[in-house]
Order: sequence, then structure tokens, then C-alpha cells
Amino acid sequence: MVLLSLLFFLPAGTFSWGFFAHRFINFHAVFLLPREMLAFYKSNIQYLSEHSVDPDKRRYILPEEAPRHYIDLDHFKQSDSLLLSSNWDKAIEQFSADTLRVHGIVPWWIQIVKANLTKAFAEKDRNAILKYSADIGHYIGDAHVPLHASSNHNGQLTNQLGIHGFWESRLPELFAAAQYDMLIDKAIYLKDPLAFIWGRIHQSAAAADTVLTIEKKLSDAMNGQYIFSYEKRNGKYERIYTVAYATRYHNALKGMVERRMRASTHAVASFWYTAWVDAGQPNLSEISHSK
Ligand SMILES: [Zn+2]
Repeated sequence: MVLLSLLFFLPAGTFSWGFFAHRFINFHAVFLLPREMLAFYKSNIQYLSEHSVDPDKRRYILPEEAPRHYIDLDHFKQSDSLLLSSNWDKAIEQFSADTLRVHGIVPWWIQIVKANLTKAFAEKDRNAILKYSADIGHYIGDAHVPLHASSNHNGQLTNQLGIHGFWESRLPELFAAAQYDMLIDKAIYLKDPLAFIWGRIHQSAAAADTVLTIEKKLSDAMNGQYIFSYEKRNGKYERIYTVAYATRYHNALKGMVERRMRASTHAVASFWYTAWVDAGQPNLSEISHSK
């Protein structure tokens, strides 16, 4: 068994929240919308959930896709934070576009997708509204994941390989549907979407240390035993965190995953709502089904 596992070992690393969590976030965001938007979004809820993972699929074919999902905030000095959080043009003046692409561009990319979504609403372009709504849900979700704001994104610097998928995929898959309270306040209008998303990214970066140190303590306490098991998936053996270990970690995080998921969901709905308001609140019941 051990040999087999080694032979067929596949790191369970994923790129972001995980397919389950992204779908869950986009799905629940729909219900936070105002009445004028609700019918249109509800009738397309399946599309919005399924396509919430398109940006991760794009990473396989588009080299420029990867940096849109994260920012290594710890790469920058505290004093840089004001410059970074201004806007893209000012940020590239200071740090160069190449540097920013290496360390991630998620906050500015969300701004671009938000502009595309606003334009789609203004043009009443049904397909574009759906595409950019699904897309922005993904990037906003990623911005709420602590390890998407840290250069130690998969615990590679602290001998915790796999923690990325553990926190954002395994834990939500095990606990979200059964335990998380997804009754959330209605979407709000965001006066300054870029500043808002920066706020969320700073929260993510601040939580990254907790995500890592709590897992380290737990695994040290168990001498690294009973942490993993091997499961056959799609004909291959995958190393997965055991349910018992995942439960301990989830409890030790004291609701952090649920809080980040709720915050993501509220942010997604608020970005959809803000784009619609900025486009002049078009009547969504008039949107053609053919275009
Ligand atoms: Zn992603």
C-alpha cells in the first residue's frame, strides 16, 4: 500500500478555494441580491456555480492567468502598502509590471473584471454578464483565502506541503454544507471596490500565519502520524488529510474557514450589485436570451 501510494502519489494541491467551495460561494451569493436582480441570477444559478471554476481551468492554457489569483503580500514592505493599494498605474510605476506579475495581481484583476461586468450590464449582454459574474466570484473568493496572500502558499517554506488544498478544499468539502451558516446580510453598494478588496486581502494576509502555525502545532503534537490516508480517486492514489485530523484542525481554527467563506459570499454579491448599479440599474427581465 505504501509503495503503491508512492508510485501513484499525486499532490492534492489545487489552485484556489477548491471546486466545491467556489461553487458554494457563487451559489449562495445569488440569494443576497436585491429583488431587481434576483430572478435573473436565480434562473442562471447553475451556470454561475459551475463556471465559478473556469478561471482555475484557464491556468492550464493561459500563462498570464496564474498571477490573477493571488498576491504575495509578505513580499512587500509594510511601508509599500499605501502605494500598492492605490491603483495599477501607480503600483507599476513603483514596482514594475513584471515584479507585480511574479507576486500576483488579484486586487487589480478584480477591478478589471468588475469594469467588464459593468460594461456587460450597460450593454445588456446576457452572456457577458454571466461570464464576468462567474469569473469575479472566483477571484473574489481567492482574495479571501489567507494562503493566497502569502508567498508560503503551500507551506513549502515550512515543511507543510499540502496545506493549501487542506484549508481551502478539504475543510470546506467536509464541513461547509453541513455546518456553515450561509444566511448572510444582503449585498451592499461598494463606493470604493478596490479599497474594499484591499481590506479583505489584508485580512487574508494577517490570517495566513494562523493557518500555518496552528497546523504546525497540531502535526508536531501528533509526531506527524495519523495525518494522512490514501484514497483511490480516478484510478490513482491520492494522499488526503484524514477526517479526524481535518476535524481537529477545523476546530482549532475556530470558525475561520466559515468566516472567510461568508465574507467571500457577501463580497461576491456586493460586487455584482455594485456593477449593476454603476451600469445604471438595467432592467434584467428585458435581457434577451439569445445574445
Ligand atoms: Zn483561483
